[in-house]
Amino acid sequence: MRTRFAPSPTGPLHLGHAYSAMLAHDMAKAAGGTFLLRIEDIDQTRTRPEWEAQIYDDLQWLGLDWPRPVMRQSDRLPDYRRALSHLWARGLIYPCTCTRRDIAEALSAPQEGTPGPDGPAYPGTCRINPAPTDPMPDQALRLNMARALAVVTHRPLARPLRFTEEGAGPNEEHGQINIDPQTLMDAGDIVLARREFGTSYHLSVVLDDTAQGITHVIRGRDLFAATAIHVLLQNLLELPTPVYHHHRLIRDEHGKRLAKRDDARAIAKFRAAGETKEDIRQRVGLEP
Ligand code: GLU
Repeated sequence: MRTRFAPSPTGPLHLGHAYSAMLAHDMAKAAGGTFLLRIEDIDQTRTRPEWEAQIYDDLQWLGLDWPRPVMRQSDRLPDYRRALSHLWARGLIYPCTCTRRDIAEALSAPQEGTPGPDGPAYPGTCRINPAPTDPMPDQALRLNMARALAVVTHRPLARPLRFTEEGAGPNEEHGQINIDPQTLMDAGDIVLARREFGTSYHLSVVLDDTAQGITHVIRGRDLFAATAIHVLLQNLLELPTPVYHHHRLIRDEHGKRLAKRDDARAIAKFRAAGETKEDIRQRVGLEP
């Protein structure tokens, strides 16, 4: 069993992160497996080296250990580019020059834009019908969802769009989860490469999980809906689909889920107040 914790160094780790990391660590250790760390730093405008340093420090303090060197997404751009070229050559992605404003204006037309797992669906302004023949441009690239679904559902030996959920989704979904292609159509032509980063969360996460040999993805329930997109990409890129375990979210006393800016629940605050890692385990419900 290989699990991972994949934080973005854009702020302090809070109790929700501690829970996710400790759960992934405990599960790997209990099975005699390996827990890995990955730094999701594709958004170089928001990541800071001091947050990355703080992540290592907090996780060590929590008693976790992981193999070095740690994978960092900023080192993996050539891999992301290679996968994009492959999708480009198959006519499955297209360049998009729309600004946020163009999209908002197109979406204000009444019948368009059903919200999906990735926000409101892109209205398709830049979608082109013939397969691209030019070299792949250095622009935002979107997945042609209808074409992607046609490929994965019609090719010989099609792999079913499904995954095993060992935790639970927001509506207690678990076991074999069959993905309804309509959910993906509703997600629309999602961005696979942002112009500024050359990749996206969805693309990087599936390539990285494969590169790290992750067998069990343990993460918060807020990412359950994104799993449909991840399974589709694994299918298109012929990557293995790991088992997923979406866990409950840690909430504050008002029932609100913790956010990065929620400094009051930062691990560092509890440490400074003299708490121990056992106190943290208790706070997140890993110990009675
Ligand atoms: N980097 C993501 C986050 O900090 C986690 C991604 C994942 O576990 O798939 O929320």
